[in-house]
Amino acid sequence: MRYIIMGGVASGASFATRLRRLDEKSEIIIYEMSGYVSYANCGLPYFIGDIIKDKSCLTLETPLSFKEKFNIDVLINHQVIKIDYLNKKIIIKDCLSGIRSYLAYRILVNNNFKAYNLSGGYRIYQLFMNNKSLENEAIEEE
Ligand SMILES: Cc1cc2nc3c(=O)[nH]c(=O)nc-3n(C[C@H](O)[C@H](O)[C@H](O)COP(=O)(O)OP(=O)(O)OC[C@H]3O[C@@H](n4cnc5c(N)ncnc54)[C@H](O)[C@@H]3O)c2cc1C
Repeated sequence: MRYIIMGGVASGASFATRLRRLDEKSEIIIYEMSGYVSYANCGLPYFIGDIIKDKSCLTLETPLSFKEKFNIDVLINHQVIKIDYLNKKIIIKDCLSGIRSYLAYRILVNNNFKAYNLSGGYRIYQLFMNNKSLENEAIEEE
């Protein structure tokens, strides 16, 4: 079984490690479009305020530590740009080279819903409650 998780950080990284504890055998891949898969957002103000001086203190886990500790593959600088729900595959862009590729999935975990405020949160809630297709809600083509 292959699980693909779009986006790391609090939700994606937590989901991936929890999943590994429940399922030792499956392939788990996280695609993270930024350069960091697991970091402390809440520490940012302290870094900006010069209280935390070492940037590396904000980084909790790295792709290497994910692999070593949990056997989870993390591809940073890789953005999922499209989900082909029909054929169960995602289109991925390597943000550094621009090269696109695709990968088939069995189960997709989408951590790409944007809720910048309570209104956004309600909107996602309503989509789920109304059982509407979430296709194209999450991904924007460039
Ligand atoms: C300055 C600051 C301080 C905060 N302080 C606190 C605090 O003290 N306490 C608290 O509880 N919360 C705090 N928060 C909020 C907390 O950090 C967020 O609630 C949390 O980060 C949300 O985690 P998430 O994984 O859901 O989303 P995000 O952190 O937004 O992670 C989503 C990840 O998915 C990646 N991604 C998105 N789309 C794609 C795609 N298509 N392909 C690949 N990757 C993708 C993004 O690059 C991102 O890294 C703070 C946030 C900030 C910015």
